[in-house]
Amino acid sequence: MDQQQLRELAAALVKIPSENPLDGPVGETKGERRLAEFVASTLREAGISCELQESVPGRPNVLARVPGESEETVWFDAHLDTVSAEGMEFEPYQARIEGDLLQGRGAADDKGSIAAMMAALIRLARSGSKPPATVLFTATADEEYKMRGMQGLLDSGVTARAAVIGEPTGLEVVAAHKGVVRFSVITRGKAAHGSVPDAGENAIYKMAKVVQALEAYAKRGVGISSHPLLGRGTLNVGVIRGGEYVNVVPDSCVVEIDRRILPGEEPRKAVSELRSYLANAVEDVDAEVTSPTLTVPGMDLPGDHPLAVAVLEAVKQITGKAALGTMSGATHAGPLNRAGIPAVVFGPGAMGQAHTATEALDLNQLAQAADIYELLMRNGATP
Ligand SMILES: [Zn+2]
Repeated sequence: MDQQQLRELAAALVKIPSENPLDGPVGETKGERRLAEFVASTLREAGISCELQESVPGRPNVLARVPGESEETVWFDAHLDTVSAEGMEFEPYQARIEGDLLQGRGAADDKGSIAAMMAALIRLARSGSKPPATVLFTATADEEYKMRGMQGLLDSGVTARAAVIGEPTGLEVVAAHKGVVRFSVITRGKAAHGSVPDAGENAIYKMAKVVQALEAYAKRGVGISSHPLLGRGTLNVGVIRGGEYVNVVPDSCVVEIDRRILPGEEPRKAVSELRSYLANAVEDVDAEVTSPTLTVPGMDLPGDHPLAVAVLEAVKQITGKAALGTMSGATHAGPLNRAGIPAVVFGPGAMGQAHTATEALDLNQLAQAADIYELLMRNGATP
Protein backbone atom coordinates (compact mmCIF):
# COMPACT_ATOMS: atom_id res chain seq x y z
CA MET A 1 0.00 0.00 0.00
CA ASP A 2 1.71 3.18 -1.20
CA GLN A 3 1.22 6.75 0.04
CA GLN A 4 -1.52 7.57 -2.46
CA GLN A 5 -3.47 4.44 -1.53
CA LEU A 6 -3.04 5.29 2.15
CA ARG A 7 -4.51 8.79 1.58
CA GLU A 8 -7.41 7.25 -0.30
CA LEU A 9 -7.98 4.77 2.51
CA ALA A 10 -8.07 7.57 5.14
CA ALA A 11 -10.52 9.53 2.98
CA ALA A 12 -12.71 6.46 2.51
CA LEU A 13 -12.86 6.00 6.30
CA VAL A 14 -13.89 9.64 6.80
CA LYS A 15 -16.67 9.23 4.21
CA ILE A 16 -18.35 6.57 6.35
CA PRO A 17 -19.97 8.38 9.32
CA SER A 18 -19.53 6.59 12.65
CA GLU A 19 -20.81 9.01 15.25
CA ASN A 20 -21.16 7.60 18.72
CA PRO A 21 -24.91 7.25 19.36
CA LEU A 22 -24.28 7.37 23.15
CA ASP A 23 -27.23 5.45 24.63
CA GLY A 24 -29.51 6.25 21.67
CA PRO A 25 -30.34 4.16 18.60
CA VAL A 26 -27.88 3.58 15.78
CA GLY A 27 -28.91 5.24 12.52
CA GLU A 28 -27.71 6.81 9.29
CA THR A 29 -24.73 8.68 10.74
CA LYS A 30 -24.79 7.03 14.17
CA GLY A 31 -23.03 3.79 15.02
CA GLU A 32 -19.90 1.94 13.98
CA ARG A 33 -21.26 -1.04 11.99
CA ARG A 34 -20.75 0.27 8.46
CA LEU A 35 -17.24 1.43 9.20
CA ALA A 36 -16.38 -1.82 10.99
CA GLU A 37 -17.57 -3.84 7.98
CA PHE A 38 -15.52 -1.69 5.61
CA VAL A 39 -12.38 -2.09 7.74
CA ALA A 40 -12.90 -5.86 7.97
CA SER A 41 -13.55 -6.35 4.26
CA THR A 42 -10.53 -4.23 3.30
CA LEU A 43 -8.28 -6.32 5.55
CA ARG A 44 -9.79 -9.60 4.30
CA GLU A 45 -9.13 -8.56 0.69
CA ALA A 46 -5.48 -8.26 1.70
CA GLY A 47 -5.60 -11.83 3.02
CA ILE A 48 -5.70 -10.92 6.71
CA SER A 49 -7.94 -12.98 8.99
CA CYS A 50 -10.49 -10.79 10.63
CA GLU A 51 -13.53 -11.07 12.90
CA LEU A 52 -16.25 -8.79 14.21
CA GLN A 53 -17.12 -8.90 17.88
CA GLU A 54 -19.96 -6.99 19.53
CA SER A 55 -19.48 -5.68 23.05
CA VAL A 56 -22.41 -3.32 22.48
CA PRO A 57 -25.28 -4.83 20.42
CA GLY A 58 -25.16 -3.60 16.80
CA ARG A 59 -21.86 -1.78 17.35
CA PRO A 60 -19.03 -4.18 16.47
CA ASN A 61 -15.30 -4.10 17.14
CA VAL A 62 -12.96 -5.41 14.43
CA LEU A 63 -10.16 -7.83 15.39
CA ALA A 64 -7.43 -8.77 12.91
CA ARG A 65 -4.35 -10.85 13.46
CA VAL A 66 -1.10 -11.47 11.63
CA PRO A 67 0.55 -14.48 13.31
CA GLY A 68 4.08 -14.11 14.62
CA GLU A 69 6.92 -16.45 15.46
CA SER A 70 6.25 -16.48 19.21
CA GLU A 71 3.22 -16.87 21.45
CA GLU A 72 3.49 -13.21 22.37
CA THR A 73 1.12 -10.58 21.05
CA VAL A 74 1.60 -6.89 20.39
CA TRP A 75 -1.67 -4.99 20.20
CA PHE A 76 -2.43 -1.99 17.97
CA ASP A 77 -5.76 -0.30 18.65
CA ALA A 78 -7.64 2.71 17.26
CA HIS A 79 -11.29 3.61 17.76
CA LEU A 80 -14.05 3.55 15.13
CA ASP A 81 -16.44 6.06 16.66
CA THR A 82 -16.36 9.84 16.43
CA VAL A 83 -18.13 12.63 18.25
CA SER A 84 -21.11 14.28 16.55
CA ALA A 85 -20.53 16.39 13.43
CA GLU A 86 -23.01 19.04 14.52
CA GLY A 87 -21.70 22.58 14.20
CA MET A 88 -18.81 21.71 11.87
CA GLU A 89 -17.69 24.49 9.55
CA PHE A 90 -17.64 22.33 6.43
CA GLU A 91 -19.44 19.27 5.09
CA PRO A 92 -18.17 16.69 7.61
CA TYR A 93 -18.22 13.55 5.43
CA GLN A 94 -16.99 14.80 2.07
CA ALA A 95 -13.35 14.06 3.01
CA ARG A 96 -12.01 17.04 1.07
CA ILE A 97 -8.25 17.31 0.72
CA GLU A 98 -6.84 20.87 0.99
CA GLY A 99 -3.10 20.82 0.33
CA ASP A 100 -1.77 18.29 2.81
CA LEU A 101 -4.84 18.30 5.02
CA LEU A 102 -7.70 15.80 4.93
CA GLN A 103 -10.78 17.51 6.35
CA GLY A 104 -13.73 15.90 8.07
CA ARG A 105 -15.23 14.64 11.28
CA GLY A 106 -13.01 11.86 12.52
CA ALA A 107 -10.11 12.67 10.15
CA ALA A 108 -7.71 13.10 13.07
CA ASP A 109 -9.72 11.40 15.81
CA ASP A 110 -9.39 8.60 15.03
CA LYS A 111 -9.53 7.58 11.36
CA GLY A 112 -5.96 8.69 10.64
CA SER A 113 -4.73 6.16 13.19
CA ILE A 114 -7.03 3.43 11.83
CA ALA A 115 -5.80 4.03 8.27
CA ALA A 116 -2.12 4.10 9.29
CA MET A 117 -2.46 0.90 11.33
CA MET A 118 -4.36 -0.85 8.52
CA ALA A 119 -1.71 0.18 5.99
CA ALA A 120 1.07 -1.09 8.24
CA LEU A 121 -0.76 -4.39 8.78
CA ILE A 122 -1.46 -4.86 5.07
CA ARG A 123 2.19 -4.18 4.15
CA LEU A 124 3.32 -6.63 6.82
CA ALA A 125 0.92 -9.35 5.64
CA ARG A 126 1.80 -8.86 1.95
CA SER A 127 5.53 -9.02 2.65
CA GLY A 128 5.05 -12.62 3.80
CA SER A 129 7.69 -12.27 6.52
CA LYS A 130 6.62 -13.41 9.97
CA PRO A 131 6.87 -10.79 12.73
CA PRO A 132 8.56 -11.80 16.02
CA ALA A 133 5.27 -11.45 17.94
CA THR A 134 1.70 -11.87 16.70
CA VAL A 135 0.27 -8.53 15.66
CA LEU A 136 -3.28 -7.89 16.84
CA PHE A 137 -5.08 -4.92 15.33
CA THR A 138 -8.41 -3.80 16.80
CA ALA A 139 -10.72 -1.05 15.60
CA THR A 140 -13.01 -0.50 18.55
CA ALA A 141 -16.46 0.93 19.18
CA ASP A 142 -17.65 3.39 21.84
CA GLU A 143 -14.34 4.98 22.83
CA GLU A 144 -15.86 8.46 22.90
CA TYR A 145 -18.54 7.52 25.43
CA LYS A 146 -18.08 4.58 27.77
CA MET A 147 -15.23 2.60 26.20
CA ARG A 148 -17.49 -0.44 26.17
CA GLY A 149 -15.87 -1.80 23.00
CA MET A 150 -12.44 -2.02 24.60
CA GLN A 151 -13.83 -3.18 27.94
CA GLY A 152 -15.65 -6.00 26.14
CA LEU A 153 -12.42 -7.16 24.50
CA LEU A 154 -10.58 -7.14 27.84
CA ASP A 155 -13.49 -8.96 29.54
CA SER A 156 -13.42 -11.64 26.83
CA GLY A 157 -9.76 -12.31 27.62
CA VAL A 158 -7.99 -10.46 24.81
CA THR A 159 -4.51 -9.62 26.08
CA ALA A 160 -1.02 -8.70 24.91
CA ARG A 161 2.55 -8.09 26.05
CA ALA A 162 2.34 -4.45 24.97
CA ALA A 163 -0.07 -2.11 23.25
CA VAL A 164 0.06 0.96 21.05
CA ILE A 165 -3.07 3.10 21.13
CA GLY A 166 -3.55 5.24 18.03
CA GLU A 167 -4.85 8.71 18.86
CA PRO A 168 -3.92 12.10 17.40
CA THR A 169 -0.80 12.92 19.41
CA GLY A 170 0.97 14.79 16.60
CA LEU A 171 3.49 11.90 16.47
CA GLU A 172 4.48 12.52 20.08
CA VAL A 173 4.79 9.46 22.30
CA VAL A 174 2.37 9.80 25.19
CA ALA A 175 3.21 7.61 28.17
CA ALA A 176 1.14 9.44 30.81
CA HIS A 177 -2.35 10.83 30.87
CA LYS A 178 -5.16 11.51 33.29
CA GLY A 179 -8.18 9.32 33.85
CA VAL A 180 -11.78 10.37 34.23
CA VAL A 181 -14.75 9.60 36.44
CA ARG A 182 -18.26 10.83 35.61
CA PHE A 183 -21.20 10.97 37.98
CA SER A 184 -24.16 13.15 38.95
CA VAL A 185 -25.36 15.18 41.90
CA ILE A 186 -29.11 15.33 42.49
CA THR A 187 -31.14 17.68 44.68
CA ARG A 188 -34.77 16.93 45.49
CA GLY A 189 -37.58 19.26 46.45
CA LYS A 190 -41.34 19.21 46.55
CA ALA A 191 -43.53 20.13 43.60
CA ALA A 192 -46.21 22.81 44.02
CA HIS A 193 -48.08 25.20 41.77
CA GLY A 194 -45.89 28.08 40.66
CA SER A 195 -48.39 30.56 42.06
CA VAL A 196 -47.82 29.27 45.62
CA PRO A 197 -44.05 28.58 45.73
CA ASP A 198 -44.03 28.51 49.53
CA ALA A 199 -46.14 25.35 49.38
CA GLY A 200 -43.22 23.55 47.69
CA GLU A 201 -39.47 23.17 47.97
CA ASN A 202 -37.46 24.38 44.99
CA ALA A 203 -34.83 21.82 43.93
CA ILE A 204 -33.16 24.36 41.62
CA TYR A 205 -32.52 26.78 44.50
CA LYS A 206 -30.91 23.90 46.38
CA MET A 207 -28.78 23.01 43.37
CA ALA A 208 -27.68 26.64 43.01
CA LYS A 209 -25.96 26.33 46.42
CA VAL A 210 -24.45 22.98 45.43
CA VAL A 211 -23.10 24.39 42.15
CA GLN A 212 -21.44 27.29 43.98
CA ALA A 213 -19.84 24.85 46.38
CA LEU A 214 -18.65 22.72 43.43
CA GLU A 215 -17.05 25.74 41.80
CA ALA A 216 -15.21 26.59 45.01
CA TYR A 217 -14.12 22.93 45.35
CA ALA A 218 -12.78 22.87 41.78
CA LYS A 219 -10.95 26.18 42.15
CA ARG A 220 -9.27 25.13 45.38
CA GLY A 221 -7.65 22.20 43.54
CA VAL A 222 -9.00 18.67 43.67
CA GLY A 223 -7.66 15.24 44.50
CA ILE A 224 -4.18 14.04 45.32
CA SER A 225 -1.24 16.40 44.97
CA SER A 226 0.23 17.37 41.65
CA HIS A 227 1.78 14.93 39.12
CA PRO A 228 5.16 16.02 37.66
CA LEU A 229 3.92 15.79 34.05
CA LEU A 230 0.16 16.11 34.35
CA GLY A 231 -0.36 18.72 37.06
CA ARG A 232 -3.51 18.44 39.14
CA GLY A 233 -6.85 16.74 38.77
CA THR A 234 -9.82 18.85 37.71
CA LEU A 235 -13.59 19.00 38.13
CA ASN A 236 -16.12 20.39 35.65
CA VAL A 237 -19.90 20.73 35.95
CA GLY A 238 -20.88 20.04 32.35
CA VAL A 239 -24.68 19.58 32.37
CA ILE A 240 -27.55 20.89 34.49
CA ARG A 241 -31.18 19.77 34.24
CA GLY A 242 -34.09 20.76 36.45
CA GLY A 243 -37.74 21.70 36.26
CA GLU A 244 -40.41 20.80 33.71
CA TYR A 245 -42.74 23.79 33.50
CA VAL A 246 -42.27 27.44 34.36
CA ASN A 247 -45.40 27.43 36.53
CA VAL A 248 -44.37 24.46 38.67
CA VAL A 249 -41.95 24.42 41.62
CA PRO A 250 -39.28 21.93 40.47
CA ASP A 251 -38.99 18.78 42.55
CA SER A 252 -35.60 17.68 41.24
CA CYS A 253 -32.42 19.04 39.69
CA VAL A 254 -29.38 17.15 38.38
CA VAL A 255 -25.85 18.18 37.47
CA GLU A 256 -23.42 15.92 35.64
CA ILE A 257 -19.80 16.07 36.72
CA ASP A 258 -16.61 15.25 34.83
CA ARG A 259 -13.75 14.72 37.25
CA ARG A 260 -10.28 14.17 35.77
CA ILE A 261 -8.09 12.03 38.02
CA LEU A 262 -4.34 11.47 38.14
CA PRO A 263 -2.69 8.09 37.53
CA GLY A 264 -2.91 6.14 40.77
CA GLU A 265 -5.93 8.10 41.97
CA GLU A 266 -8.82 5.79 42.81
CA PRO A 267 -11.97 6.83 40.85
CA ARG A 268 -14.42 5.82 43.60
CA LYS A 269 -12.38 7.70 46.17
CA ALA A 270 -12.65 10.86 44.07
CA VAL A 271 -16.44 10.47 44.26
CA SER A 272 -16.57 9.73 47.99
CA GLU A 273 -14.31 12.72 48.72
CA LEU A 274 -16.73 15.00 46.93
CA ARG A 275 -19.63 13.41 48.80
CA SER A 276 -18.09 14.28 52.18
CA TYR A 277 -17.11 17.76 50.98
CA LEU A 278 -20.69 18.55 49.94
CA ALA A 279 -22.09 17.18 53.20
CA ASN A 280 -20.05 19.83 55.03
CA ALA A 281 -20.07 22.68 52.51
CA VAL A 282 -23.85 22.78 51.99
CA GLU A 283 -25.13 21.42 55.26
CA ASP A 284 -28.67 22.65 54.72
CA VAL A 285 -29.02 20.83 51.36
CA ASP A 286 -29.44 17.10 51.08
CA ALA A 287 -27.51 16.48 47.84
CA GLU A 288 -27.29 12.92 46.50
CA VAL A 289 -23.95 12.06 44.85
CA THR A 290 -24.54 9.07 42.53
CA SER A 291 -22.21 6.19 41.73
CA PRO A 292 -19.99 6.76 38.68
CA THR A 293 -21.43 6.12 35.21
CA LEU A 294 -17.91 6.01 33.75
CA THR A 295 -14.50 5.38 35.26
CA VAL A 296 -11.31 5.37 33.21
CA PRO A 297 -8.06 5.12 35.14
CA GLY A 298 -5.12 7.34 34.30
CA MET A 299 -1.88 5.84 33.03
CA ASP A 300 1.74 6.50 33.69
CA LEU A 301 4.35 4.34 31.99
CA PRO A 302 7.95 5.19 32.92
CA GLY A 303 9.75 6.90 30.02
CA ASP A 304 12.45 4.22 30.16
CA HIS A 305 9.98 1.30 29.88
CA PRO A 306 11.04 -0.92 26.92
CA LEU A 307 7.77 -0.17 25.09
CA ALA A 308 8.20 3.60 25.41
CA VAL A 309 11.83 3.28 24.31
CA ALA A 310 10.85 1.11 21.31
CA VAL A 311 8.23 3.58 20.12
CA LEU A 312 10.57 6.56 20.61
CA GLU A 313 13.28 4.77 18.62
CA ALA A 314 10.87 3.93 15.80
CA VAL A 315 9.64 7.53 15.63
CA LYS A 316 13.21 8.79 15.54
CA GLN A 317 14.15 6.36 12.79
CA ILE A 318 11.32 7.55 10.54
CA THR A 319 11.09 11.27 11.36
CA GLY A 320 14.58 12.05 12.62
CA LYS A 321 13.33 13.21 16.00
CA ALA A 322 11.15 11.91 18.83
CA ALA A 323 9.57 13.38 21.92
CA LEU A 324 7.68 12.15 24.95
CA GLY A 325 4.48 14.11 25.48
CA THR A 326 1.37 14.16 27.61
CA MET A 327 -2.28 14.69 26.85
CA SER A 328 -5.19 15.85 28.97
CA GLY A 329 -7.80 13.41 27.62
CA ALA A 330 -8.21 9.78 28.66
CA THR A 331 -7.67 6.93 26.18
CA HIS A 332 -7.86 3.14 25.93
CA ALA A 333 -4.36 3.06 27.46
CA GLY A 334 -6.10 3.59 30.84
CA PRO A 335 -8.18 0.38 30.84
CA LEU A 336 -5.27 -1.52 29.27
CA ASN A 337 -2.97 -0.44 32.06
CA ARG A 338 -5.58 -1.40 34.62
CA ALA A 339 -5.60 -4.85 32.96
CA GLY A 340 -1.81 -5.05 33.32
CA ILE A 341 -0.97 -4.39 29.66
CA PRO A 342 1.66 -1.66 29.20
CA ALA A 343 0.47 0.84 26.60
CA VAL A 344 1.57 4.06 24.98
CA VAL A 345 -0.53 6.46 22.94
CA PHE A 346 0.82 7.48 19.57
CA GLY A 347 -0.68 8.57 16.28
CA PRO A 348 -0.98 11.05 13.41
CA GLY A 349 -2.90 14.32 13.62
CA ALA A 350 -2.41 17.31 15.85
CA MET A 351 -3.71 16.92 19.40
CA GLY A 352 -5.78 20.10 19.22
CA GLN A 353 -7.74 18.79 16.18
CA ALA A 354 -9.93 16.26 17.96
CA HIS A 355 -13.61 17.21 18.28
CA THR A 356 -13.14 20.64 16.63
CA ALA A 357 -15.41 22.33 14.07
CA THR A 358 -12.57 22.29 11.52
CA GLU A 359 -11.11 18.82 12.21
CA ALA A 360 -8.36 17.89 9.77
CA LEU A 361 -5.52 15.38 9.45
CA ASP A 362 -1.99 16.18 8.32
CA LEU A 363 -1.36 13.68 5.52
CA ASN A 364 2.42 13.80 5.93
CA GLN A 365 1.99 12.67 9.53
CA LEU A 366 -0.37 9.96 8.28
CA ALA A 367 2.36 8.54 6.01
CA GLN A 368 4.99 8.73 8.76
CA ALA A 369 2.69 7.08 11.31
CA ALA A 370 2.09 4.14 8.94
CA ASP A 371 5.86 3.68 8.56
CA ILE A 372 6.34 3.86 12.34
CA TYR A 373 3.54 1.36 13.10
CA GLU A 374 4.98 -0.99 10.45
CA LEU A 375 8.43 -0.79 12.03
CA LEU A 376 6.95 -1.59 15.46
CA MET A 377 4.99 -4.51 14.06
CA ARG A 378 8.14 -5.88 12.46
CA ASN A 379 10.31 -5.53 15.58
CA GLY A 380 7.69 -6.68 18.10
CA ALA A 381 7.66 -3.20 19.65
CA THR A 382 10.91 -3.95 21.43
CA PRO A 383 13.97 -1.68 21.44
ZN1 LIG B 1 -9.85 9.62 20.07
